[in-house]
Amino acid sequence: MNFRGTVKGLHHVSATVNRAQEDVDFYTELLGQRLVKETVNFDNEKVYHFYYGNEIGSPSTIFTTFPYGDQGVREGVIGNGQVYETAFTIPKGSLGFWKKRLKNHQIQFESEERFRRQFITFEDPSGLKLSLLEDGEDQREPVWIAEGLSIETAIPGIHHVTIAVSRPDESIPFLEFLGYEVSDTDEKRTLMEASEKGAGNSIVVLDGKDLPKGVNGLGTVHHVAHRVPSVDDSLNIKKEIKKRYGIDVTEVKDRKYFKSIYFRIPGDVVFEIATEGPGFLVDEEVDQLGTSLKLPDWQEPRREKIESELTPYKRPSEKRG
Ligand code: ZN
Repeated sequence: MNFRGTVKGLHHVSATVNRAQEDVDFYTELLGQRLVKETVNFDNEKVYHFYYGNEIGSPSTIFTTFPYGDQGVREGVIGNGQVYETAFTIPKGSLGFWKKRLKNHQIQFESEERFRRQFITFEDPSGLKLSLLEDGEDQREPVWIAEGLSIETAIPGIHHVTIAVSRPDESIPFLEFLGYEVSDTDEKRTLMEASEKGAGNSIVVLDGKDLPKGVNGLGTVHHVAHRVPSVDDSLNIKKEIKKRYGIDVTEVKDRKYFKSIYFRIPGDVVFEIATEGPGFLVDEEVDQLGTSLKLPDWQEPRREKIESELTPYKRPSEKRG
């Protein structure tokens, strides 16, 4: 028994980053993602929670950040037990364009081949590892397009994440239990895909025995979320994880835009199972997404205090004027 078909693929990636302004500028202006929601970390309301994605922040396009830069949080170490790198799709034939774009923005990058595909790898302003790869079969439309980008070059969403673990032989069976199947391997990597396969539905397991142990902090990914249709699916997964692996799973948490459970997989990476709905349109119209601070009902009474403690920054909409 496994959850193939129930776990549809990726939902989002969440990272701890440095400062708000550089983060927003990088993901919106350079990578051309839309800031679809500005809220606060529901577990620490002094820190923003930014959600980037396509026009409406469809599950699997969402990359989220917590800018902890002015909160006394130390730099993290990227290593085992973490998401090691996040890969975004770029359209077929646009690799040369992206190399030029990164160079023009003084972003250093490297080229490398994995699974017979060309990747370019680089870091965001906080040191997060990112990569771009062409995938002509990615059906998601890049409907939010920044300056200098077009439908031929824009990013339609996250392609896959790479997790680093010291014992792939322990982590891979767990991913199979969640519904991912091995579809390719190379020297150090195992590509696994959910039933729908391809972009947004894939995860790579990197054999990290030569890497340091990952330490949470600035410039590291905190967790990767996988999507399921309903909370009942999450509860079934929770029950089965406890029964088979004895792993503790949190209660269902209301994240307003989705409902979530969290746990550590064998190999230590923090996973979240998030519902596909209700999504980012529950408290804003499509054209208003990300243009003001949104708070859940339970924090709304403290809005004034919360706003006064957040570091001001310029939103993409304010920059465009
Ligand atoms: Zn999350």
